[in-house]
Formats: sequence, structure tokens, C-alpha cells
Amino acid sequence: MSRIMLALLVLVVASLMTPQAALAADCTWRITGRLVVKDAEDAFYYQPVVRPLAGVKVRVAATLYSWGGFTAWDTVETDSTGRFQITQTKSCSARRFRVWAKLDNADLRVSNGDGEEWMLLRDDPSSAFTRPLNSNDLGAFTFAQGAVGVLGDHFAVRRAITWAMLTRAMDWLEDRDPWLGFGRKLHVRYPANTPAGSSWAAFDTAYIHADEVSDHWDRGTVMHESMHVWNYDHNSGITNWLAAVIGDNSTHSEQENPNIAFHEGFAEFAAWQLLHELDPARYNGYSDWVYLYFPTLAQIERNDGAVTSTLALLEGATMPLADMLLCFRGNAALGWPADLELGHADNGLLMYLDRCNDLFASFTDAEYVSLLQTIDPQ
Ligand SMILES: [Zn+2]
Repeated sequence: MSRIMLALLVLVVASLMTPQAALAADCTWRITGRLVVKDAEDAFYYQPVVRPLAGVKVRVAATLYSWGGFTAWDTVETDSTGRFQITQTKSCSARRFRVWAKLDNADLRVSNGDGEEWMLLRDDPSSAFTRPLNSNDLGAFTFAQGAVGVLGDHFAVRRAITWAMLTRAMDWLEDRDPWLGFGRKLHVRYPANTPAGSSWAAFDTAYIHADEVSDHWDRGTVMHESMHVWNYDHNSGITNWLAAVIGDNSTHSEQENPNIAFHEGFAEFAAWQLLHELDPARYNGYSDWVYLYFPTLAQIERNDGAVTSTLALLEGATMPLADMLLCFRGNAALGWPADLELGHADNGLLMYLDRCNDLFASFTDAEYVSLLQTIDPQ
């Protein structure tokens, strides 16, 4: 056998021995897409706004078959623009895809009343196979009223708006000072068919009530309940809410204990002021506060509406919102070693104002005197 013949034979044998898998070359599949929400809740007054859904979990599964047989490829989180990308090395055969999303990450979960919830955003029909490209862009998945499937589900759209709003609020808070971030994962449940038919916040969860007859969801309510959770995370006491609701089933009575009135008045003020910071075109700061006249400071600090009005006055006149939130933080050098303590019934607005005056140059003695004279002119 000549050398050339030998070389040819070696080549032929080598090719016969090539494993089957390498013959059908693998492809790099790059699956991309984007999650956004179209917020048209008050389209009568404002242009709808489209916002990215950042930090959302996305799961992709694929199959070679028309009958099913999906296998999970990966679960990733969307980036700050709502984009996701999954890269896998698989055979080059065309596939059908399913894509799910879940409003859940380390900082926030927005779910229906049952909790767990993967939403199926894409489910290719049995004959719709996709061939691999350098990048298979699945396009934008837009939660919007009128959209097909779960993307257009009334409650899912509102949960997506809630997600976009709260992730922006969390960013706003942490950008001002890391201490202002929520101290733990925030949960929001909507629709929550709460026993008492009211929206409320407990520990780490905001429950937004909805049933056949009433639906409490709006941005203000979501933010109000979320700021209750924020308050729990940033004060050093445990508030006895039960004492507040016994007798009248309400935490908004005309005269509550000062700590309850402060909880409620603060949640309302902080919610609207934060919405203003996030979206000044839509929220005119605290334009709709109503000053409630009470003859004494003691009565003012027992009424949540009067507390809200006083806090709005303080913000409007002198203190930025971030400073007002930072008043919750203890500072031993300035005489307030503990974080704001709302565990005692008598701790409320007046103690809070004292703290802020001691802790912040943005609330001077003269401004303090002036504020007290405004709310209690006697
Ligand atoms: Zn409340």
C-alpha cells in the first residue's frame, strides 16, 4: 500500500469512527425578550406610560416534539430595562417554546391571593417550530388592558403596574440612603379577599382587598400599605394594632392613640409624597391634603388626617422627604439612640417632630415653632 493510499484509509476509518453527536453539530441558542407594562389606569386624564419590568423571574422551556415533552432550559431575571437572555448549547433541530414569568425576586414579590404564581406568557402551537438563529428575539411581552392571555388579565396588569411602581420606589429610597431600603422582602397580594374587607399590612405583606363587590387597588392604596411595612421595618417598637381596632374595627377613628394615628397619617403622607417624587407629572405633591382643625396639639396627634396634614406642611415648608424618612433612624450623638419607637401608645407626631428638630438641620428651632403655631394657633 502506498503512503497516499494509507493516508486515505486512515481518513476514511477516522470518519467512520466519528461519534454521532458531533455529526449533528450543536447550536448556541440565544433566546431574548423583554417584559414591559402599559399603565393606562387613568388614561382619561394622562397619557398611558410604558414601563420596564425589572428584576422579574423568567423561565424558558423547549421541546422537539409536537405532542409536548417540554424540558426546562433556564430561569433568569430581567435587567433594569426589562430584558432577559437565556443561552443554551443544544442540537440545531427546531423547537417549540414556552415562556413564563413570575413577579418575584429577593426584594419583592407581587402575587395573587394564593401566593405562588408562574404566568404563562408564550406557548407555541403544536406546529410552530423555531429554527436556531444567532439570536432568537421573542419580542416584547406587554402587560396591557386588552392584550391576549395572561398579559391582558385585569389583575395581572395591575400586579405588573404594582411591580414597576414598587421597584422604582425601592430604587428611589436606596439611592437616597441605603438605610432607607425596605429591611426585608416586601410581599404584595392582590386580589386579596381579606376577612374584614379592608386592605391592610401585616409584618412583611401588604394585602390589597378585592372581591365581587369592591376593589381597593390603586397606586395610592398599594403605596400606603407598603409604607406601613416600611414603617415596621424602620421603627424599634411593636405596635398593638389590636387595641386600635377593638370597639370600632378601624385604625382611622377620629381620635386614636398617638402611635396609631402616626402610623396611619405617616403611611398616607409618605405614599403620596413618594408617588410625587416618582411621577411628578401625575402626582402634584400633596395637593389634596385637607387641614383638619383641632383645638389642641394632643387632639391633632390623635387624628390620622391631621397627622398627614402636619407632615405635608413640614415637607412643603422645610424638610425633604428623604430627611423625614431618615428621622426614623436613631443617632446617639444627637440624643436619640434608638430608631423611632412606636410601640408605646403615646409615641406619635409630637415625639417625631422633636426628633426631626434635633436630628436634622433642615428643620430648625424657628421652623419648629412656626409649624406648631400654624397647626395650633392658640
Ligand atoms: Zn393604613
